[in-house]
Amino acid sequence: MTRYTGIIEHFRNRLPLAPDAKAISLGEGATPLIKLDKLVRAEGLEAELYVKFEGLNPTGSFKDRGMTMAVTQAVYEGSRAIICASTGNTSAAAAAYAARAGIVAFVLIPEGKIALGKLAQAIVHGAVVIQIRGNFDDGMRLVKEVAKTAPVTIVNSINPYRLQGQKTAAFEIVEALGRAPDFHCIPVGNAGNITAHWIGYSECAGIGTEACLHCQGDCAFLGVASTRKRPRMVGYQAAGSAPFLRGGPVANPETIATAIRIGDPQSWAPAWIVREESDGWFDELEDQEILATQRLLAEKEGVFCEPASAASLSGALRDLHSGKIPAGSTVVCTLTGNGLKDPDIILKDGLRGLVQVDAEQGVVERALLERLA
Ligand SMILES: *Cc1c(COP(=O)(O)O)cnc(C)c1O
Repeated sequence: MTRYTGIIEHFRNRLPLAPDAKAISLGEGATPLIKLDKLVRAEGLEAELYVKFEGLNPTGSFKDRGMTMAVTQAVYEGSRAIICASTGNTSAAAAAYAARAGIVAFVLIPEGKIALGKLAQAIVHGAVVIQIRGNFDDGMRLVKEVAKTAPVTIVNSINPYRLQGQKTAAFEIVEALGRAPDFHCIPVGNAGNITAHWIGYSECAGIGTEACLHCQGDCAFLGVASTRKRPRMVGYQAAGSAPFLRGGPVANPETIATAIRIGDPQSWAPAWIVREESDGWFDELEDQEILATQRLLAEKEGVFCEPASAASLSGALRDLHSGKIPAGSTVVCTLTGNGLKDPDIILKDGLRGLVQVDAEQGVVERALLERLA
């Protein structure tokens, strides 16, 4: 068995890199596809339900798949610095891959509203963290303006190499299931990832797609995993931050799911193409539903994802209950990020279940036996 060294080496023949481009990798990808039989039974549902746990990537989110590509290409082109706007996970990934490459990362983050773990990551990897008095959308606008003149490469998902890297998650799902699922449910912020998955599934099916910005609809079928079918793509947003449900930008997006607190999605047009081509839909969830699903998944299946990630499963469960996703379907939900990024969200509810006792054997034993009764 050869050592796994990340998506670029694993999927090299399906990625648009020059043969002599040296991969900047942290071993991203190859994340587990976890089947949720226990949760499905507890909910009284009938489905083959999986989560693709992208929180197990090196920096704890799917952004690593895109960042290994964007940074590899930036270094290949001779760039000495990268820049991004971020709600947290893009900056964490940019900081780590820039450190690995020995180049500078500038990250623009919104004031407050960033999960502490993500901020710590940007700092520990030595990124230049610029906190702006504004939200993600302001940061994105500034990055585009600054990059017009400054010698920096943008590594937000408007960089086409990002989506090319992220499409590999779809390859892995098709390889694991032996076919595409019936439905793929995914949280939507900028809508880069839903677009990337559609590109990936389409390539597996040997179909070019209008949504593929890089190849302009000329994706070659490159073998390995193949499937004739593509899934219906379902994108879930937080109700306070749901431009795809409102039909246009939202001025002041608000949600506890900070990773999808985005009012002006950068992949607006491609995401609508994905919805159309896949016969999918967009829907929205209240913050309380998202948090309840985050807890449910952690308690019932041992998987701890961040709030934004729980939106996909929360929506899938609701649509399975209503029959919008028919019984018996094979459903994959992307869990975009790791729960450890944002422990505050759990702990601010108090230390639920914590038992405080004297440091004596008898007292501790009694505490155990009471709870086993
Ligand atoms: C970036 C991110 C999203 C949103 O992905 P888009 O490609 O912007 O739609 C969702 N969840 C998490 C945890 C993220 O980091």
